[in-house]
Amino acid sequence: MDLNLKDKVAVITGASRGIGKSIALELAQEGCHVACIATAEERAAATAAEAEGLGVKAKAYGADVSSFEDMKELCAKILEDFGTVDILVNNAGITKDQLLLRMSESDWDQVIAVNLKGTFNACKVFAKTLMKRKGARVINISSVVGLDGNGGQANYAASKAGVIAFTKSMAKELGGRQVCVNSVAPGFIETDMTEGLGGDLREDMKKVIPLQRFGSASEVGKLVTFLAGETGSYITGQTFVIDGGMAI
Ligand code: NAD
Repeated sequence: MDLNLKDKVAVITGASRGIGKSIALELAQEGCHVACIATAEERAAATAAEAEGLGVKAKAYGADVSSFEDMKELCAKILEDFGTVDILVNNAGITKDQLLLRMSESDWDQVIAVNLKGTFNACKVFAKTLMKRKGARVINISSVVGLDGNGGQANYAASKAGVIAFTKSMAKELGGRQVCVNSVAPGFIETDMTEGLGGDLREDMKKVIPLQRFGSASEVGKLVTFLAGETGSYITGQTFVIDGGMAI
């Protein structure tokens, strides 16, 4: 099926590595031009170069998604460079794991600021442009822990649950303009974020995953591409779990 992504413009936050990088490259593979965001421009440069190699226009930008000012400036630069935006993927995210009794105020604030406020900031600055496009898409990367909670991740789980509720609200608000807004909730995906898990914990985790392995960033990238494409034209306000069956 034709995803009809050729010459669409996508903005992907947290595109320097891991899931964000895979999303950018999967979209580029389908002919989509990509604006790749990371905290520093040079971090996203390799992703942009790889995407360019696939024959699309690609550019790297440095911005902190938790800063509304940064995001406003970024939006202006991207519109100047690409002319428009059809697809926004809010993928930038951090963890600061700690049991509640040990969690500092700053651990809480930083995670909420990047994961939840960062999603709001990007949606807010790009909303008007997306509403003017025919069939625009917003895809927010949440997590299975945003559905089920997780000991040691109260800040992260709350931020990801917030992303899901934010997604549903935005889907209701922008539906009349045919903007589809969905979230994707990955389980364990092999990236730098999960690399820090100890060997025993990794093996224990695999035992509770029916598919008995962690997912790959490109598997998440393919799901996002499906939602971004023509294939996602009648899907909005949903949360797509991609976790090898872990949550069933
Ligand atoms: P990662 O740590 O490998 O990459 C995170 C990306 O976000 C990097 O490009 C980083 O530069 C960027 N980033 C971080 N803070 C930023 C900020 N303030 N402004 C701009 N960019 C910023 O993470 P990943 O594993 O690829 O995860 C990507 C997303 O998927 C995150 O939202 C994460 O919460 C979510 N997720 C990951 C997993 C997993 O198992 N890896 C599971 C569920 C959800």
